[in-house]
Amino acid sequence: MANQSKFSIRFWGTRGSIACAGPDTVRYGGNTSCVEIMCGAYRMVFDAGSGLPMLGRHIMRQVANGDEPGAEEVSPETASPTDTDIFLTHTHLDHIIGLPFFALFHIPGLPITMHAGHLKAQGEALHNVLSAMMKAPLFPVPPEVFAANVDFVDFEAGETLTPREGVTLRTAPLHHPNSATGYRIDYGGKSICYITDTEHYPDRLDEQVVSLVRGADIMVYDATYTDEEYPRFVGFGHSTWQEAIKVADAAEVDTLVLFHHDPSHNDEAMDVIAEEASAARPGTLVAREGMTLTP
Ligand SMILES: [Zn+2]
Ligand SMILES: [Zn+2]
Repeated sequence: MANQSKFSIRFWGTRGSIACAGPDTVRYGGNTSCVEIMCGAYRMVFDAGSGLPMLGRHIMRQVANGDEPGAEEVSPETASPTDTDIFLTHTHLDHIIGLPFFALFHIPGLPITMHAGHLKAQGEALHNVLSAMMKAPLFPVPPEVFAANVDFVDFEAGETLTPREGVTLRTAPLHHPNSATGYRIDYGGKSICYITDTEHYPDRLDEQVVSLVRGADIMVYDATYTDEEYPRFVGFGHSTWQEAIKVADAAEVDTLVLFHHDPSHNDEAMDVIAEEASAARPGTLVAREGMTLTP
């Protein structure tokens, strides 16, 4: 398979809660959660916040230029040049608001599967939830306007999925209002974890998270707040960069990437967090829109 060794993560949206585009957030980005992980020619999109439409435009440009990864091996039976699936941590608005504007949904017949792991146990289904968002007068048209062949899959956080041969996706429930799902992607002997939105416990580490991310090469983690800010937001379902470091250390994660930045943190505030976090745990990174990492 072409690009067999290619395994990368790219950030299209790094914010939590609500988009905050503006001159004070240009360096770290103002769009909400959206992360692209390439496993060879297979693209996994984690969360569909306001960064998703930008990713859609990027893919369409690649397709137009013929330089989409894997394009040379395309046949009707195998990977399409836009071999893409979407995995949601949960369905709070900041993680799904970009969905109606994703260009790939308007390619006739293109198969795309959307997965969510937090709804099944609540007796809900992803298709119903998205239909409720894309419903007049909140939104003019329903998901049925998508020309692509979109499938909705509800699994239970804790399951292990194999979306493509050689790609293992382990999952775990996170500590978040209405629940959320943490993901670990293993491919070609390397691993990337995507852990947002989740709140730490006051007295212990979340063992389900530690066990999911153990030994990972890259862990993206919900660092919405600092420890100083956190007491005002107990119960909001988010964590801090200091807690992220505790998890990374306990699980012997190689590279920690702080994510889901609070919209009130401008570039200057993010610079301070980046400096303090990398002093506390050398190698720690702060996610920025456009940043690409390879494990
Ligand atoms: Zn969020
Ligand atoms: Zn949330």
